[in-house]
Amino acid sequence: MVISGKELAKEVKENIARKVASYRIEYGREPNLCVILVGEDPASAGYVRSKGKQAGEVGFSHTEIHLPATITEHELIDKVKELNADEGVDGILVQLPLPKHIRKHRVIESIDPAKDVDGFHSKNVDALWHRLPGIRACTPKGIIKLLDKAGVEIAGKHAVVIGRSNIVGFPVAKLLLDRNATVTIAHSHTEDLASITRTADILVVAIGVPKLITGDMVKEGVAVIDVGITHDPETGKLSGDVDFDTVEPKASVITPVPGGVGPMTIACLLENTLDCYTRKMQW
Ligand code: NAD
Repeated sequence: MVISGKELAKEVKENIARKVASYRIEYGREPNLCVILVGEDPASAGYVRSKGKQAGEVGFSHTEIHLPATITEHELIDKVKELNADEGVDGILVQLPLPKHIRKHRVIESIDPAKDVDGFHSKNVDALWHRLPGIRACTPKGIIKLLDKAGVEIAGKHAVVIGRSNIVGFPVAKLLLDRNATVTIAHSHTEDLASITRTADILVVAIGVPKLITGDMVKEGVAVIDVGITHDPETGKLSGDVDFDTVEPKASVITPVPGGVGPMTIACLLENTLDCYTRKMQW
């Protein structure tokens, strides 16, 4: 079964839109998402446009702030602080990557944790690791929703996560652990990756290497989540980390690229924004 992230994201967004319509009457305004883009990177600009467009579709107001690549770290942080203090802003997202002269962690730490819709602030990461309420990172949250939607049993299963970034691999491993999976995290120093992936009941691949995982590396019935988004150097087409053609026949469920994890990341971003807004309004 191919799990459509597009369809599930549509369901999540319809649910958000319904809530926004009633909250607008109850609280007098809609949620507001503010996205900051530094520089002109076309891929980042595309992501920012898509986030703004989809925020509009669910009834949010949204602001896109474009800043030049030459902006200093100090100036960027001042801008974030201004948004932190703005009562009308519920969610703040600084599009990554940032230009090299700006320290990413400094900028992330300057965002008010209550408006950190990406869930990257250390207070939100801390909350994840301590199982406390907080904002969960969008892609890992979306992955769990995809597995649940597909009816994949997580508890007691062996989940193998390849990749240990703070954005995907590490937090998704924690969320799977919290759902009582036995979790193995593999990474670029892992020797004999195939011997590990072949033991996976659930395989989450987040590495950014096109088609690294092939059919001979997985067991029959595995549930596969392909997070990777890269351009295949041969065809120039969008590619995942999983060789779909050889893995799909063995998998019980699998996400496609595009149309799998990607749409769920944005849907969860909107859900996080709504949560930030309702927490503020219901305070
Ligand atoms: P990253 O570069 O921060 O981390 C990559 C991880 O993969 C590292 O932990 C590294 O050790 C591991 N790795 C690299 N090569 C490996 C190999 N040959 N064998 C085993 N492990 C290896 O990347 P990231 O931010 O986690 O993103 C990973 C991929 O997921 C990228 O393609 C990115 O574009 C994509 N992504 C997609 C979404 C989405 O919404 N669909 C969101 C975030 C990231």
